[in-house]
Amino acid sequence: MAEQLRYDGQVVVVTGAGGGLGKAYATFFASRGASVVVNDLGASSKGEGNNSRAADVVVNEIEAAGGKAVANYDSVEDGDKIIDTAIKAFGRIDILINNAGILRDVSFKNMKDQDWDLIFKVHVKGSYKCARAAWPYFRKQKYGRVINTASAAGLFGNFGQANYSAAKLAMVGFTETLAKEGAKYNIISNVIAPVAASRMTETIMPPDVLALMKPEWVVPLVAVLVHKNNTSENGSIFEVGGGHVAKLRWERSGGQLLKCDESYTPSAVLKKWDQAIDFSNPQYPSGPNDFLTLLEESMKMGPNEQ
Ligand code: NAD
Repeated sequence: MAEQLRYDGQVVVVTGAGGGLGKAYATFFASRGASVVVNDLGASSKGEGNNSRAADVVVNEIEAAGGKAVANYDSVEDGDKIIDTAIKAFGRIDILINNAGILRDVSFKNMKDQDWDLIFKVHVKGSYKCARAAWPYFRKQKYGRVINTASAAGLFGNFGQANYSAAKLAMVGFTETLAKEGAKYNIISNVIAPVAASRMTETIMPPDVLALMKPEWVVPLVAVLVHKNNTSENGSIFEVGGGHVAKLRWERSGGQLLKCDESYTPSAVLKKWDQAIDFSNPQYPSGPNDFLTLLEESMKMGPNEQ
């Protein structure tokens, strides 16, 4: 039997841990030996209001089970205060789970600036502020683990969620850059697109489906990714929920090189369209194409067909 993964002596910050997925992460890590900062603003699912009860209930539950936890009630927009809570209470921070989130679903035709801005403040700025405040500690101790939270809506788009999907895909680019910058300091960052029953999904899915989507079933993948033994998955994107775990990656068509001269016209592109979008010889890039090499090759070619 595989050894049980543990987090003894480690400090975990979970944002939005007053309910749903965040609560499942917080209680799990506390049960496996970690000290946990349970952050939650206690806002409505649309990001309105605040209430310290959400975080307190989870801290009480963890303590009653013999675990170690402290509450923090700041908005993730003040991520530095959340990380400060970890340092003051436990003296360090090892794992950051950027999980807090809200929805402001509305068709694009009816979207208001406030719907756009609030989503970006909580998801994008909030994740940035928490990670930015944890980063110096991670670098200094040459150890850190970050989980950012995307969504299928961000990866694929979803009706009524232009704001949310834009912010959630931002989590992918953010994670991939943190992964590249953190690698040499043993700071590992990954991003998940979860599916789970929570107040976010309870109004849009039937009860029998919700029963199959426990937040607890997202936890094991996250636990593996933030464990000290994970040194191989960094900057990876995962879908997780309902018992399913899968990794996603970018796929680039083989592409078509064209000569860069006056023969590089719209007709020349159309002429090579099928080759340009042909995925029969795909690449799986983890960075941009080497444009200088391509340009050099293009220079050597004859004029494009029109
Ligand atoms: P949830 O509403 O149950 O939990 C989100 C928590 O974040 C709430 O407790 C809320 O009070 C807290 N929060 C909101 N704004 C905050 C702020 N500014 N600062 C601190 N805390 C704040 O929702 P959930 O389903 O558990 O979602 C967790 C994360 O997973 C979110 O980022 C969400 O977008 C993402 N997600 C969830 C699903 C799903 O199927 N449940 C799907 C895709 C993505």
